[in-house]
Amino acid sequence: MKKILVSLLAALLLLCTGCSQPKEQTLQIFAMDTVMDFYAVGENAEETLNAAAQEINRLEALLSRTRTGSEVSAINGGGSVTVSHETASLLRSALQYAQTTSGAFDVTIAPLVDAWGIHSDMPRVLSANEIRTLLPLVGSDHVQLDGDTVTLDAGCRIDLGGIAKGYASDCVAELYRQNGVTGGWASLGGNVYAHGTKADGSFWNVSIRDPKNTAGSAAMVQLSNQFAVTSGGYQRYFTAEDGTVYQHIIDPATGVPAQSDLLSVTIIGQNGTMADAYSTALYVMGLESAQKFWHAHEEEFDMVLVTEDTVYYTAGLAEHITTEEGGPYRVQVIT
Ligand code: ADP
Ligand code: MG
Repeated sequence: MKKILVSLLAALLLLCTGCSQPKEQTLQIFAMDTVMDFYAVGENAEETLNAAAQEINRLEALLSRTRTGSEVSAINGGGSVTVSHETASLLRSALQYAQTTSGAFDVTIAPLVDAWGIHSDMPRVLSANEIRTLLPLVGSDHVQLDGDTVTLDAGCRIDLGGIAKGYASDCVAELYRQNGVTGGWASLGGNVYAHGTKADGSFWNVSIRDPKNTAGSAAMVQLSNQFAVTSGGYQRYFTAEDGTVYQHIIDPATGVPAQSDLLSVTIIGQNGTMADAYSTALYVMGLESAQKFWHAHEEEFDMVLVTEDTVYYTAGLAEHITTEEGGPYRVQVIT
């Protein structure tokens, strides 16, 4: 009897150590032209992260503009193309965001992105004449979307680079939820999703990079079940012979890389796709219009704007943001 009791106790002890050690898993992949990091805690952490990597690869194969065989390549090839419902839905959202942002976010910007060589090894400054020739190809009116069939006007192309990682982060969030991940995060380039909480119930710290010293942080936000998406000129840029710095986000109104008074825009909200589209758009808009836009949409998101000398954040973040006292930036709350 004693023996049975002892082995029962031992078994119980074993069981308990099993349950007090939640499984955690990390993963790093390179996809969508960026490094992506994942962390998950939960019974199915490993399976979840493997599924997340597969999901990202699946989306890249669908949405990449440079991969032959992708649905976006097929659309850009011309004619009427019937795509998956998923791609059509994402394009529909993108067109909707173009409307909401008065064209500051516009996926038909592709011909200008290509001509400026933004994603190439040999970016170059376009002449006013070249810009004049290409600008008429930009605008949502050039996209016809009938059910899942897409038709672009001649010469037009689409680039989902400003929204695809945001959409991918929404898909990863769904996987975390479905698989019972209790806490974790996913960082897809500048697109972060914070899931659940840490073991002690506290929120995840997400660092908003200092655009002027990318090894440092301009602010930290504490998030749970939210997305934080950053667009900034410091992420990808080139310097012309005359010393002008051109970054990778183009103002669809002028055809020129946005000369923004913002160094970075971080959108914080419940929808990764929206946050990605808005972060690109508000960077184009600049400080004043970005604030106006937030006032018209304050139910949808919070934001952190970094200029040359100031970190601005919206009032909703007050309890969830840490900025450095006496740091290089003034801090101002947007109400
Ligand atoms: P990243 O993709 O580096 O995280 P963004 O989400 O801001 O940054 O997307 C920028 C990318 O979107 C550019 O590299 C380009 O491919 C494309 N793009 C550039 N300008 C615009 C624009 N005004 N609207 C939509 N997409 C854009
Ligand atoms: Mg974006």
